[in-house]
Amino acid sequence: MTLKLAFFLIPGLAISGAAAATTPVISGQVVNAASYLSALAPGALATLYGTNLADAEHLVSPTASFPTTVAGVSVAVNRVNAPLIYVSPTQINFQIPWETAVGSAVPVTVTWGTATSAAVTLTLAAPEAPSMFLNDPVNGIAWVTGTQCVTTECAIQSGNSYQLWANGLGPKNAPLQDGVPAVYNGSLTPLEVPGSPASCQLTIGGQAATVQYCGAAPGEIIDQLNFVYPAGVTATAGYVNATLTIGGVTGAFRVPAPGTPDQLAQQTLAQLTQDEKLQLVYGAGGPVTNIIPLPRGAGGYIPGIPRLGIPDLYFNDGSVGVANSQAPATALPSAIASAASWNTNLAYQYGQVIGAEMRAYGLNVNLGGNVNLGREPRDGRTFETKGEDPILAGKINAAHVRAIQDQQVVGCIKHYAFNDQETGRTTANAIIDERSGRETDLLAFEIGVRDANVQSVMCSYNLVNGTYSCENSHLLSDVLKGDWGFSGFVMSDWWATHSTVAAANAGLDQEQPDNQWFGSLGAAVQSGQVAQSRLDNMVERILRALYETGAINSTGAVTPVNTAADEAIAQQVEEQGAVLLKNANNQLPLNPATVGSIAVIGSHADIGVLSGGGSAQVYPTGGAALNEGYPTVPGWSPVIWDPSSPLQAIQAMAPNAKVQFNDGNNLPAAASLAASSSVAIVFVSQWTSEGMDMPSLNFTDVIHPAPVDQDVLVNQVVAANPHTIVVMENGGAQVMPWLASVSAVLEAWFPGQRGGQAIANILFGAVNPSGKLPVTFPASVADLPHPTIAAPSSDDPFPVNYSEGLLVGYKWYDANNLTPVFPFGFGLSYTTFSIANAALTNNLGASNANFQVSCDLSNTGPVSGAEVVQVYLGLPANLGEPPRRLVGWQKLTLQQGATQHMTIEVDEGDSSHPLSWWNTATGAWQVSPGTYTVYVGTSEAMGDLVVAGTLQVGS
Ligand code: BGC
Repeated sequence: MTLKLAFFLIPGLAISGAAAATTPVISGQVVNAASYLSALAPGALATLYGTNLADAEHLVSPTASFPTTVAGVSVAVNRVNAPLIYVSPTQINFQIPWETAVGSAVPVTVTWGTATSAAVTLTLAAPEAPSMFLNDPVNGIAWVTGTQCVTTECAIQSGNSYQLWANGLGPKNAPLQDGVPAVYNGSLTPLEVPGSPASCQLTIGGQAATVQYCGAAPGEIIDQLNFVYPAGVTATAGYVNATLTIGGVTGAFRVPAPGTPDQLAQQTLAQLTQDEKLQLVYGAGGPVTNIIPLPRGAGGYIPGIPRLGIPDLYFNDGSVGVANSQAPATALPSAIASAASWNTNLAYQYGQVIGAEMRAYGLNVNLGGNVNLGREPRDGRTFETKGEDPILAGKINAAHVRAIQDQQVVGCIKHYAFNDQETGRTTANAIIDERSGRETDLLAFEIGVRDANVQSVMCSYNLVNGTYSCENSHLLSDVLKGDWGFSGFVMSDWWATHSTVAAANAGLDQEQPDNQWFGSLGAAVQSGQVAQSRLDNMVERILRALYETGAINSTGAVTPVNTAADEAIAQQVEEQGAVLLKNANNQLPLNPATVGSIAVIGSHADIGVLSGGGSAQVYPTGGAALNEGYPTVPGWSPVIWDPSSPLQAIQAMAPNAKVQFNDGNNLPAAASLAASSSVAIVFVSQWTSEGMDMPSLNFTDVIHPAPVDQDVLVNQVVAANPHTIVVMENGGAQVMPWLASVSAVLEAWFPGQRGGQAIANILFGAVNPSGKLPVTFPASVADLPHPTIAAPSSDDPFPVNYSEGLLVGYKWYDANNLTPVFPFGFGLSYTTFSIANAALTNNLGASNANFQVSCDLSNTGPVSGAEVVQVYLGLPANLGEPPRRLVGWQKLTLQQGATQHMTIEVDEGDSSHPLSWWNTATGAWQVSPGTYTVYVGTSEAMGDLVVAGTLQVGS
């Protein structure tokens, strides 16, 4: 570091005046040359102002040392001539001689030729007077440099090392001759302040900074401070207060506030070569580059750029726990169970488990966040989604993403957009009008962008209105980056890129997992088909995501996963997400004192619980209870049964009961065990996976070549014992031909690796179920908007007509007067609740329209429990909206007999646009005049709702 000596000039402070007389005159005090308000110490750099100080301006060029006489001019401090740095008729910069006594007034004079000025006095208060060289003297902001900002101003990044240039740090270990630059002999140590760095205490924004070096600047006569900018510094202005304390003496100054992610990304972008830029916009895996398997078992990989602190990027699936080749990881209940908890705080913890375990494995980009709406209930990936309602799905997903990003892992939402079926997923062409798109599937994505500030979005395999998603400029540029202001980067789903120029210009920022197309991006930029600014923007977005989330600092250190804590969360999610669908005659909870014998039947319930397959497959801690290998249907992953045996957990809850297991493969044997038991618990399961859709909504064994007919199994068991309880392990809506005859049904979803305990806790009432359906359970496939799933007849794109438009999920059944078996939002408890005194207040005239629904919720039953109070809104009939839409909810736990007054706020300013419809003509959300009906209740079905009131918008 060579400092420009002109730096020591303090512009604006020089007093102008002609050199008329020959006797020099010093005006005012001797001040600190760096920050003129600070004190001086021996060795510090000082400035004095005056008239007739010299004949002309002399900027001293240091050779080996600084002279004490320049053009006949010298400065004496207590009769010792000071080293000179800059001499002019009105200003002299010099070093305070080391031997200047501290604590008493000493004279300072200027001599020019034979004439000497009158003396001014200077009193040095202490051997040190730490002060910094300023970049901005007006605001007192110190000059900060670093490896990425030697010549430009630093955009500060917490955790990075920087230098401050100082004076007055006091005597050094190896005291220097006055005016002689410090010599660097390969080690800074001899030049340090005694006791440094411990004796140099730097605080920034109140946070202690680690000081790495504090002493003379090698090659300079000034001082230098090397430090690590601390984390947790917040600022409202562009700077924060800082202090440096040495020997009990504190210097105060300001340093720049941490740079914004935009500034940091721009700073780093400016230093990348073209090749380095190109390196960041495509994966290094896959057949093209052929790095298989990818390092760390990740699903995607991009090597970093160490010289600029850009870490290697490891992309890893993680919708329901950390997937790909990471093992072990906590197998959480499926994401749809997290949605069924209707608990965004718990959803945050769900995301925390994924984020923390990703980080523990040294992985820094999550590929979870499947927020496709599950329009098609047979979609094999429904278990990864958060259900059919854009607001519930959007909010639960946003909580997952926020938590993941809070763990310094880049979050992701996918598959953008309308990737709602696996049948022909790479050629399906979703045909949907703009309004329907914006108000349904796209709204769930919009909430993720706005609420969670998600930093990556994965575009999907399918086409949307004739154009592949990953080169669909309307979706990527107009909507996502334009209307929603998405600041992160768009990556393709794996091999979902179909072009170089079209994709890049449409808004794709990164091809995954290889460079089949973006390998020629450099050439496309060179030929002008893709603008350099577009490439720069792709890279800036990727860098921004790393700075925004803190993933830029990922060290890659692999640390142990906190299994016990994470598994406890897995269990809690299942306990709050399992939905009690039927409980005739209070069959549940089982009473351990009175239940004599229990038959546990089917679905490997003796050893474990089922998980969903595909890229979301988690390999659980403790190892799989059973790995059945690749299933009969074209499966993307083996069939994995997670540990936690329901049988054992049930036995543990009822230690005196005779608990026996039958695998369900032999119907008479299963029926006979049921007949000889007090109650029968049948576990039915539906394996689903990426790469497949379910053949029907019935429980269908797609795993085995000789399938078990589970509907028949339930019928036989219930025929043998009417006290039959069915526990379902599956990913979404199902039909239950045996529903009327069984006494209880618990929807456990894919329950995760603590599912066994959670299920047993619910069956015996240790936990009171509180889950609510995030999807409608229709009466039959015939009631679906599309009884038959559209399928391709060739390799060419084929249309999937979203003719149901706005009528996704429950909205379809409501609009068509179809009664589902279980409505959206439905779920039973072991207690009962009532809602009274529902009322409305509103502030619809405000620029941000909002209203409040209040009511009294009472627990009218025998035990404490939680209820999800839901608010639905019916828009004015002329708008052509579905009969009602979810606009808010609150989950509340109440002791038996307790009543609580509650208020649910609905705010049009929220990312979910609760009062609006999408006006395609104006390209904007719009609140229209008319009468709005507000419902409050415990599911979306009219029978479970009361009208809280109506709202009038406009006249
Ligand atoms: C899936 C994505 C997944 C990716 C990487 C694709 O097959 O559709 O959801 O993130 O693979 O594993």
